[in-house]
Amino acid sequence: MLFKDLGLSEPLLRAVSEKGYETPSPIQEQCIPVVLEGKDILASAQTGTGKTAGFALPMLQLLSQGREKHNRPVRALILTPTRELAAQIGDELKDYSKYLHLRYSVIFGGVNQNPQVRAIKQGVDVLVATPGRLLDLHTQNLLRLDNVEILVLDEADRMLDMGFQRDLNRIIHILPSKRQNLLFSATFNKEIKKLAQTYLHHPVSVSATPENTTVEKIEQRTIRVDKDRKTALTIKLISEGNWQQVLIFTRTKHGANRLGQKLEKAGISAAAIHGNKTQNARTAALAGFKSGKIRVLVATDIAARGLDIPLLPHVINFELPNVPEDYVHRIGRTGRAGATGEAISLVGGDEVDYVAGIEKLLGEKFVRQVIPGFEPQDPETAPEKKQQNQRPPRDKKPHQGPKPQSNSVGGGKPKKKQWYGRR
Ligand code: ADP
Ligand code: MG
Repeated sequence: MLFKDLGLSEPLLRAVSEKGYETPSPIQEQCIPVVLEGKDILASAQTGTGKTAGFALPMLQLLSQGREKHNRPVRALILTPTRELAAQIGDELKDYSKYLHLRYSVIFGGVNQNPQVRAIKQGVDVLVATPGRLLDLHTQNLLRLDNVEILVLDEADRMLDMGFQRDLNRIIHILPSKRQNLLFSATFNKEIKKLAQTYLHHPVSVSATPENTTVEKIEQRTIRVDKDRKTALTIKLISEGNWQQVLIFTRTKHGANRLGQKLEKAGISAAAIHGNKTQNARTAALAGFKSGKIRVLVATDIAARGLDIPLLPHVINFELPNVPEDYVHRIGRTGRAGATGEAISLVGGDEVDYVAGIEKLLGEKFVRQVIPGFEPQDPETAPEKKQQNQRPPRDKKPHQGPKPQSNSVGGGKPKKKQWYGRR
């Protein structure tokens, strides 16, 4: 199958070919014709399967065919959970719309709204937005959404995880009821199904089969090591392996900062990326990492989700996520677009149980390793099980589970409902 067989117009085909894409990915093959027909779509496929082009290409085509409206009101709205994702989608729109006469703009919180407002005033056909900032500008009467024909919910699962459900409801009610809805998610579960039932109109469901996912191209192993030796082992692996681009996941923002500092001290350039960092710091960290100036990016799950970091050879799970699905998202960052990668998980005594859960989800067993000099001493415990149904003391932060998110993606007032547990 070729892109030209999918019904895309010449300006889009040219842009795609300049991007270096030779054939459409499975999810793109399925999505593009359906969207071009004007139907609603519910698409689930893992991170890294090319979902962005799956909605962006046909969406741009529909817009370019549509009647040009005076003063360019927003005709397509793309909602995404994080600033980074919004910016990334903006970058792709720029490439894909190169030969079309369409304008797009990206808005998100955490930065001054004025440049965003100015851009909108000049007229944009496509608006990429995080829910908070969108509502913010709408409430201030700086934005009209009554001409929206196409709504895209990207990373819908993560939007729900981050507590955006109420914001989404509010936004949907602002939009015209007659519109095309495209819902994209990396996972498919009850919540997503419910969301689809509420917002979509006779959607066509598409998904990329697990056989097509990147996971199989990734070598995965676990290394059993004591918690307090993980940093030393990480430094050893990176320096002895002479790894140049490494993404490390930690469970907490604090942990990300601390590890970043320790790596720096050991002479390994590193930056942490998480929700407490300013937008500029996050953008700079990602740019530095992509350009190779920074060797290690230490990230929490949310910060890294959906980021497009091409050709990433090494991922280290400094701590395992307590939700197996998050593991899949994390390692979705390696071996993208045909490259191979390696994912290493450092497993402390109290994390052994997580490994079993992940193996069950993936349906395969990991290679288990112990590194000489780092033989584990601490006992293997299962604190999660023992603590089940026990509320953590009020004044202490829970070891796991949801905790309030202190920053607000949308800017302005922090949203009470916007929290997420595994950062
Ligand atoms: P997802 O949203 O499913 O996580 P993305 O849309 O971010 O995935 O795409 C992942 C990577 O694959 C990006 O670097 C993108 O440029 C690249 N890509 C997308 N479609 C193709 C294609 N048809 N051929 C090659 N690379 C592609
Ligand atoms: Mg995506």
